[in-house]
Amino acid sequence: MREALNDLNSVPGVLVELNKDLKKFSTMRLDAVGDLITVKNVEALKAVTKTLTTNNVEYRVLGWGANMLLPATATKPYLQLDFDFERSVLDNPQDEYILPASVSLATLTSHANKFGLKGWEVFTGIPASLGGAIFMNAGTNLGEIGSIVKEVWLITKNGEEKLIKIDGKSFSYRHNHFVQQGDVIYQARLVHSGLDPAISKKIREYLEMRTRTQPLKEWTCGCVFQNHHDLDRGVTCRAGQFIDIMGLKGFTYKNLRISPKHANFMENSGESSYEDVLTMIGLLQKELKLQTGVSFATEVEY
Ligand SMILES: Cc1cc2nc3c(=O)[nH]c(=O)nc-3n(C[C@H](O)[C@H](O)[C@H](O)COP(=O)(O)OP(=O)(O)OC[C@H]3O[C@@H](n4cnc5c(N)ncnc54)[C@H](O)[C@@H]3O)c2cc1C
Repeated sequence: MREALNDLNSVPGVLVELNKDLKKFSTMRLDAVGDLITVKNVEALKAVTKTLTTNNVEYRVLGWGANMLLPATATKPYLQLDFDFERSVLDNPQDEYILPASVSLATLTSHANKFGLKGWEVFTGIPASLGGAIFMNAGTNLGEIGSIVKEVWLITKNGEEKLIKIDGKSFSYRHNHFVQQGDVIYQARLVHSGLDPAISKKIREYLEMRTRTQPLKEWTCGCVFQNHHDLDRGVTCRAGQFIDIMGLKGFTYKNLRISPKHANFMENSGESSYEDVLTMIGLLQKELKLQTGVSFATEVEY
């Protein structure tokens, strides 16, 4: 594997860093070390996935690490995109946008806020890269990003390009149904449904509400558990609400604390390890099952 990674360093637009400190590469800030491949353009991306696959090296795609727990020592290299794009497209509102997967949702929210882009309020306040948000179909109670995505371009594990036309079956709650193992989303076409100053107000109010109700200054991975949709009874069970009712807000295990602001968030106050987080998740899952009968799946990936 090391030989294949070293070879990639000679490809223009590729930077390979072995045994890199990855603490800052996830929002939970767990101690983590691993191999990181940073890719700057689509030709480089084709070469990277093809070379890795030819050499039987499996890899993981890393966006902003806002929904991933990184293990202390990664066995697979991480592949992260850092594509340049013509930023002046965001100086004015456009009818549609073709944007790289590495652009941050914060940049897009600030554009939507400035011009009142209808439909773009759905991802207000979500820390993510565009690629990670599309992969997760990230959303808020204002909607999901899938609603404004029309096309997605991918590079497959064999270095081939694929264009996905989004339809009604492309996304479901926090899932996409088109990315296959090893595929890397590298850009997407986004649309909106007009300009409306009321959207800017909505975005600002929503951001204020999130700051009040979520621990946005702490190191977290967002909501740990998915909400459980009970289709038989037609109800949604909210993990955070149950953890709160169980009196576990503020519960601390080593350097991890269930957020006093929002019970579905786990704060890393310092030196927590990957294992600590998994232990805490296991404890909560067991307790939730015992008290509510519901098996809550995790939203965060590990
Ligand atoms: C404080 C906080 C608040 C949050 N609030 C919300 C919220 O309101 N709503 C919500 O939905 N989520 C929320 N999250 C979770 C997180 O922001 C989302 O899941 C987001 O979509 C993750 O994007 P990312 O770029 O960080 O992806 P990562 O966490 O890096 O990756 C997530 C998954 O996407 C894959 N992936 C990433 N980029 C690509 C790509 N280019 N091609 C293919 N696969 C890719 C990864 O392999 C991984 O499987 C929150 C997180 C935090 C820390």
